[in-house]
Amino acid sequence: MSSSTLLKESGPREVFCGLTSIVWLHRRMPDAFFLVVGSRTCAHLIQSAAGVMIFAEPRFGTAILGERDLAGLADAHDELDRVVNDLLARRPEIRTLFLVGSCPSEVIKLDLARVAERLTGKLNGRVRVLNYSGSGIETTFTQGEDGALNCLVPSMPVSQEAQLLLVGTMANAVEDRLKNLFGRLGIDKVSSLPPRQSTDLPSVGPGTRVLLTQPYLTETAKALRDRGAEILQAPFPLGTEGSRLWMEAAAKAFGINDIHVANTLAPLMVRAQKALIPFKERLTGKKIFLLPESQLEIPLARFLHRECGMELIEVGVPYLNREVMEPELELLPHNTRVIEGQHVDKQLDRVREQRPDLVVCGMGLANPLEAEGIATKWSIEMIFSPIHGIDQAADLAELFSRPLHRRELLNNKLLVSA
Ligand code: SF4
Repeated sequence: MSSSTLLKESGPREVFCGLTSIVWLHRRMPDAFFLVVGSRTCAHLIQSAAGVMIFAEPRFGTAILGERDLAGLADAHDELDRVVNDLLARRPEIRTLFLVGSCPSEVIKLDLARVAERLTGKLNGRVRVLNYSGSGIETTFTQGEDGALNCLVPSMPVSQEAQLLLVGTMANAVEDRLKNLFGRLGIDKVSSLPPRQSTDLPSVGPGTRVLLTQPYLTETAKALRDRGAEILQAPFPLGTEGSRLWMEAAAKAFGINDIHVANTLAPLMVRAQKALIPFKERLTGKKIFLLPESQLEIPLARFLHRECGMELIEVGVPYLNREVMEPELELLPHNTRVIEGQHVDKQLDRVREQRPDLVVCGMGLANPLEAEGIATKWSIEMIFSPIHGIDQAADLAELFSRPLHRRELLNNKLLVSA
């Protein structure tokens, strides 16, 4: 049982909405298209969040709901049909079309599930049209991925076969390495959700054991369990310890000999722990405050404390799924202050009072805190960086040591010029 102090807080929030997840999902499944059904604000968000993709062939767009749609004066269904028809005529290679709901589409109660069903029928199976919500009402940005994966689950074929299913987007190279390692442990049939092609959906059934690669996939995990899969309980594959325990959970579920597992992982652990040393030297004893945004906060806190020696001032999480997080909570130091939810003003007051060495937060809060002399790390960077697995532990630690180093340089410069 966890001995952390679990508290709840509610009030003003400062997080990105679920549309943001399109930025990494569209890279993962290049044959899919994400059509946001929203306002100009939604279009601006997705375009600026994915700004780097402007020069690439985009695989996302926005069907803008105009003022007449929002006032209920026009038929948004007709407009949506027109946009989809134009899109598919221009882009015949699209195999899966995600209609992504937004705050405006939810406010006018546009039934995107019905639209998706109708369009799938009309397109005669040539394109699978699915829908999920990326709305920012009471959600955080990583929940967009949960919604997208959850809506794929009903289309997954049935299988009785024993297999390991890795659920959650990871960098392709990291995923290849992990699959190779599972193969060396003796687990040969390993598939992934999301797949690299949207049409190449993995199967699921009573022989499927699921390892979540990300902690924010609550609804997807439930849907897979309803399809007969077993969700394995383990810490998340961040850092050497979490990654080892995560792999051991799969090995145990497949009845693999403990000594073989230990012998396979030991050289990797030794190498990774050695690579961690320089970062640990910089991070040990430094105080960190994690504001709630990505849902990765608890696994990160566990890694930063246990493997990098950081002192945890507060660990905020947008929401706490006790069942999924229990193995992580058990590894946090006694009385760690874990706060579910957000009252951004009160949290910032506590940050100012405690003066941590580093704050993990959203992009909107980073600049004001930096201006006050507090080093920050954007939580969204953890989603885009290849941080999973034993081999990546030093890279993960480096992400936190870099802003501290920068802050030190800045402080020294200020001292010299004073
Ligand atoms: S979905 Fe909601 S929070 Fe997200 S950009 Fe659109 S209006 Fe804003």
